[in-house]
Amino acid sequence: MAPPDSTRWPLTTEVSGDENEKRTADALLATYHYYDTHGKRAAGDPAQDTPASLRSELSLGGLAGLLKHLRFAGAARPARPLHSHVAMGGEVVASDRMDIHLLWTNEGKLFVKPVPRFLLSLDFCRSNLQCPDGCTCRDPLADACRGIPRRVAFGFLYTYACLISSESDFHIANEISCCLTLARELLQVHEHDPGVIHPRFLRAELRLSRLNTISRLTSLPHFNPYVRGHYTYGNLFRDNLAWIATATVFVVVVLTAMQVGLATERLQGDATFQQASYGFTIFAILGPMGAFALVTLYALFHLVKGLPSLLRSLGKRTAADRAVSSAKPRTMA
Ligand SMILES: [Zn+2]
Repeated sequence: MAPPDSTRWPLTTEVSGDENEKRTADALLATYHYYDTHGKRAAGDPAQDTPASLRSELSLGGLAGLLKHLRFAGAARPARPLHSHVAMGGEVVASDRMDIHLLWTNEGKLFVKPVPRFLLSLDFCRSNLQCPDGCTCRDPLADACRGIPRRVAFGFLYTYACLISSESDFHIANEISCCLTLARELLQVHEHDPGVIHPRFLRAELRLSRLNTISRLTSLPHFNPYVRGHYTYGNLFRDNLAWIATATVFVVVVLTAMQVGLATERLQGDATFQQASYGFTIFAILGPMGAFALVTLYALFHLVKGLPSLLRSLGKRTAADRAVSSAKPRTMA
């Protein structure tokens, strides 16, 4: 196999057999979502602005800025076959966000992005994911350079070559409405030129809880997690009180052992043990109180942070209610 041109779409297999499927408009999503100049979310027609819809569909979001920290969230290895996730009691959940693809939660949920149909259309990929002649794909990237989306798209398809290794995987993959017949070619291209894969996909599954921690530590002082779930203050206190209570039980066990130790003649006269007992007793008093105070401060911080937008939306709602009530026709009593 000849080494592929790094500015070209590296695959040659046509998967979309139907002529209708090959048409760009059919292969694209129905709508794509983006943020307008005012920071508001909007929906657009991919056929009107295909490059923008591709940028949105192939965006790695916040992961792009966390690449150098990803080693703390997952090992550099290919993705495990889907059947092994299911066999270990995991749940495969479809999610259309590229930056969520192959993140897994502590509860065993693995998010998998189904393959968008346009990535299986050779004509479409050659038209939209190749760079113009003479592009070096190096910083600063030219406007017409498609290097990053191409590497993301290829890396994404490569994860499928690893996720679907047998017929069982294929059946599971069908359940989340995706299919792939490119596996061998993907593996061969990757073998000849590992650089065709975006670095994010060199680490397949990433643990979401670690990614949230990395994101919090790197987004100071905003302290934002990578993925914010549907979280309430009740959940926040319940989850954190659970680990504080567990830690307190361990502290009590150690304190009891120290108390027994202090009752023995040998340790009564031991200055080091006395000092350690003194230090640990202070920690046992202040530790749980400090942890609870931190959780309360965290909740207060988010309450204060979210207050302006809450007041703004309340103001808008009141104004809208007033407009609706003034527009109602008045009836005579
Ligand atoms: Zn380029």
